[in-house]
Amino acid sequence: MSDLSKGSSSSQPASSRSRTRRGGRGRGISRYCRCGEEAVIRTSGTAKNPGRLFYCCPHGSEGDKYHLFTWTDERIVEEVEDLKVVLRDVQDEVSDLRCEIVRVATQLDQNKAMLEMSAKGGGCCGIL
Ligand SMILES: [Zn+2]
Repeated sequence: MSDLSKGSSSSQPASSRSRTRRGGRGRGISRYCRCGEEAVIRTSGTAKNPGRLFYCCPHGSEGDKYHLFTWTDERIVEEVEDLKVVLRDVQDEVSDLRCEIVRVATQLDQNKAMLEMSAKGGGCCGIL
């Protein structure tokens, strides 16, 4: 019945770096057609692209260039390329944080050792 032992230390890491994110417009999967309709996924039934998935506008038709039509595989390649950039950023952050952890752990060990030394010395170091 006691939740006194809840360590509510919400320490936010000071993110010093603010990388510019790419706009990403025109790349990746388009959710909407320019007519405002939400894109749907369909499977191609043509002899040229049998079973190939594509995003399209429900109002579009074959040969209609106005409405959205895009192959999902091409879009997904772009998405993956963009995600690779994000992943590299995350990996950088992780390795930075690992270094930080090692630094803090070393500092902690040093502090502990100092505390132990002063405890063993009985506190009579003449500073008081
Ligand atoms: Zn449309």
